[in-house]
Parts: sequence; structure tokens; C-alpha cells
Amino acid sequence: MSAPTQEQILGILKTVEDPELKRDIVSLGMVKEIVIQPQDLSVHLNGASTPPAVIDAVKNQIEKKLSVLEGIKNVKINFSRPAPQTGSPPLARRQSIPGICDVVAVASGKGGVGKTTVAVNLALAFAKHGYTVGLMDGDIYGPNVPLMLGVSSETRPQVNSQEKLIPIEAQGIRMISMGVLVPPDQPMVWRGPMLHSAVTQFLQKVDWGELDFLLVDLPPGTGDVQLSLVQSVPLSGSVIVTTPQEVALMDVRKGIAMFRKTEVPILGIIENMTGEVFGKGGGRKAALQYKVPFLGEIPLDSRIREGGDKGTPIVLSVPDSPAARGFMKAAEALEQAVGAGVKK
Ligand code: ADP
Ligand code: MG
Repeated sequence: MSAPTQEQILGILKTVEDPELKRDIVSLGMVKEIVIQPQDLSVHLNGASTPPAVIDAVKNQIEKKLSVLEGIKNVKINFSRPAPQTGSPPLARRQSIPGICDVVAVASGKGGVGKTTVAVNLALAFAKHGYTVGLMDGDIYGPNVPLMLGVSSETRPQVNSQEKLIPIEAQGIRMISMGVLVPPDQPMVWRGPMLHSAVTQFLQKVDWGELDFLLVDLPPGTGDVQLSLVQSVPLSGSVIVTTPQEVALMDVRKGIAMFRKTEVPILGIIENMTGEVFGKGGGRKAALQYKVPFLGEIPLDSRIREGGDKGTPIVLSVPDSPAARGFMKAAEALEQAVGAGVKK
């Protein structure tokens, strides 16, 4: 009777599904280690951001499937729950684009939660604190960063002597977007792989100069396109934007699972559109549940939408509003999380 191999075990684990995310635990990046000793089998799993009910369900499935293996007497399953990710990110991630200190991705489980609004206003909040800031619009299909910053769709970036794009300066930050590269009436025929190369080119083909922060407004969602983008950018960390409702928790978890796979530190969750319409507290609850920092809540305020449409972001146009203050506070928390401190 010979013990099973790592490959066999992994093959079986590929049939174990996370009941919430409806994907197998191997492709979700949950399996950390498989140790096969004579008659004993240990499976180590990454349990960060995994609710207890999911852990139980996954454990049950694994036990059922592995205990029937020949040559194995005991199956040990162990879920590690790493400490919350606070403090400075790993040094190796820092400064990996020459001249750029920290690259921070802004992500959301789905569209329409205000991800771009948050990215734009955070970028302006960093600039208000004295940092030099770049903003990359990673949304190829719906590039609305130019509109929100009041940059007309006729604006085109200049190209320097090394054929690199010079970002557009708007409201004190540097910005690049498909919206200033492709005329708005041109159909977007890109599919996944081209989408990916288009966004990575933004990083390689743009002369950002020296930046303290580069914010990346990721395309909405947590699919393979987003994942490969996250992997191609040397990120210091990520921010997840959510709305307050209970149903949004699942989207948050998808976002966390995506970053966990790539070992990108999650700097925190921002709740957007807090108020009477959508409620309050979902973001904080998600942060507690998944053990990531909560960066604050931005109220639902019609001036945010109006400012977005007119190109006058609220952080600059109504700096005393609770929303603008919320963005400033969240920016401060982020500055601390990446170890930048407030530059005055
Ligand atoms: P996403 O990038 O996630 O798709 P957007 O940032 O484009 O979302 O926001 C979607 C719409 O909601 C926009 O019209 C925006 O102005 C509006 N919006 C975003 N946040 C708020 C808020 N806190 N209060 C009111 N309107 C908001
Ligand atoms: Mg957007």
C-alpha cells in the first residue's frame, strides 16, 4: 500500500469548492501546503478573510474526500488566520518602478459602487497633503477619470523623446486614461488579453516622473483580467471600495480573495454611499469579519455626483463637507498604512 502523491491530493482538493465563492479552493489560492507522512496527511490552508461557516464546509468536504484514500489513517486540516495587515508593506514591493514610491490599487467587487469617485478624490487628498500623485485609469471600457477631473475628451497627451506618454496634469495630479488616448466615438474592441497589455503599457510607456503615490483605478470586478493586472503591477497595497448593504459583503470577499492570492497587502476597506438610501455599516462589518483595516465611510451626497459630472471633485469643491473630510481621513489612514506619514 503506497501513500498518495502531492499531485493526487492536489487533484482531489481541486474538487473541493468554497460554497460562497463557488470556486475550487486550489484556484482560490487557499491551499498553502500538503504534508504527506506515512499514514498521516496534513493540509495547511490559508484562512484569511474566510468566514467560519465556509471554513467548516471546506473542512467537511476535504475530510470526506481524503479519508477514503488508501494508505492514509489520519487527515489533519489546518486553517491559518494571519494577523490583520497593518503597518508597512513588505520592503521588496516598494520602489519597484523607478521614481515611484507607492503604487496603490483601488478595487471593487462590481461596478457602480463609486470606485472611480474614491480613486479621484483620494488622489486629490494625497496632493492636498503635499504628495506628488499620479492616477492611472485602468477602466478601459468606461474610462471616466478624465470627466471627473474636468479633462476634455479632446485632450491628448504629449510624447517625449523616448516615445513615452507624458501624463495630463489636472487639478494638481498627473493622470493617464484610455479616455485621452482613444476618441470617445471609437468602438472598444479589446478583449481580455489586449485589455491587459493596454493597462500594463500605461505603466511602462508613461513617463510618470517622480511620484510619491500612483493610484490605479482597476477595472470593476474580480475576474481574471483584474487578477493579471494586479500581478503585473508592483503594488504596495490595495483599497477595496464597497457600498454599505449586507449583500455587498460577498463582493468584498471576492476582492479580498483576489488580493490574497497575489499576496498584495490589503490596506483597507472604504464604505461609499453611506446614508439613508443604502444604510450604513456594511464596510466596517466586512473589515471586522475579514480582519482588514477600515478606512472610513463616505456619505451619499448628491454634490459628489454633480461634481463628478462637472469635473469638480468634492475634495476640492466643497472641502468642508463630511464627504470631503471622509476622503481626507481615509487618505491619512492610507498614508500611515504604507508608512509614508503625513507630509505637510
Ligand atoms: P464605479 O467607478 O465604481 O463604477 P463611479 O465612481 O463612476 O463608480 O460612481 C458611480 C456614480 O455614483 C457616479 O455618478 C458618481 O458620481 C456617483 N457617486 C459615487 N459616490 C457617490 C456618493 N458618495 N454620493 C453620491 N453619488 C456618488
Ligand atoms: Mg469606474
